[in-house]
Amino acid sequence: MKVDVLGVSFDNVTMDEAVRLGMEMLDTPEADTVVTPNPEIVMVCRKDPELMGAVNSASLVLPDGIGVVYGAKILGTPLSGKVPGADWAEKMFSEMSKRGRSVYFLGAKPGVAEKAAENMAKKYPGLVIAGTHDGYFNDDGPVVEAINSASPDLLLVCLGAPKQEKWISAHRGELNVRLMAGLGGSLDVYAGTVQRAPESWRKLNLEWLYRLIKQPSRLGRMLKLPRFLILVVWKRFFGK
Ligand code: UDP
Repeated sequence: MKVDVLGVSFDNVTMDEAVRLGMEMLDTPEADTVVTPNPEIVMVCRKDPELMGAVNSASLVLPDGIGVVYGAKILGTPLSGKVPGADWAEKMFSEMSKRGRSVYFLGAKPGVAEKAAENMAKKYPGLVIAGTHDGYFNDDGPVVEAINSASPDLLLVCLGAPKQEKWISAHRGELNVRLMAGLGGSLDVYAGTVQRAPESWRKLNLEWLYRLIKQPSRLGRMLKLPRFLILVVWKRFFGK
């Protein structure tokens, strides 16, 4: 079932369902896509029809973060819960490692994808690392070629939003992969170059606050969150 939050159609799934669907997509011939919008991306989508189209045409649209979950609740169409993209992908790695499936890491600064691959291969023995490439390139062609010659089951595109969603949408038709997902800063987390909030903060839904304290430069981006909530409340009471 889809839940509309300010124009973005989220899939109303739990983490387990999202992993089951992701695993099923690895066995279908077409290239499926996963996006994980947070309130900030929803706000950008409202101003950028190309991005809105790219997001809404994904096979799976996961609610990344508590803001989207609160928004859906206020709108009277609650979601089952948040499905953070970085956690979803790790659960995919765990399942994929049992079946010898392969993943390709695209994105982040030079060296980060390699370190992420090394850490994930150690943590999930059996997971096949098909290849890695940093996220700072000018010519898409050779990158698409490198991915296609590795032909991974899963491709993580970690170029930050909205670049990654547009990149996936532009290259979906020419990529020889089963599933591709836009996952922002996840490679930095897997590589250990960026720390996730401690479990206790995450349980209290305060991961956003932890990220803000660690990276105060995110304040400008995060100011979209109060505007998102105001718009949601407005829509709830005035219907537009
Ligand atoms: N990035 C990249 N290529 C670019 C711009 C950004 O690979 O041209 C990477 C950047 O190094 C970082 C990620 O994209 O690893 C974005 O991380 P951020 O935490 O900002 O993403 P979010 O999860 O908030 O979308």
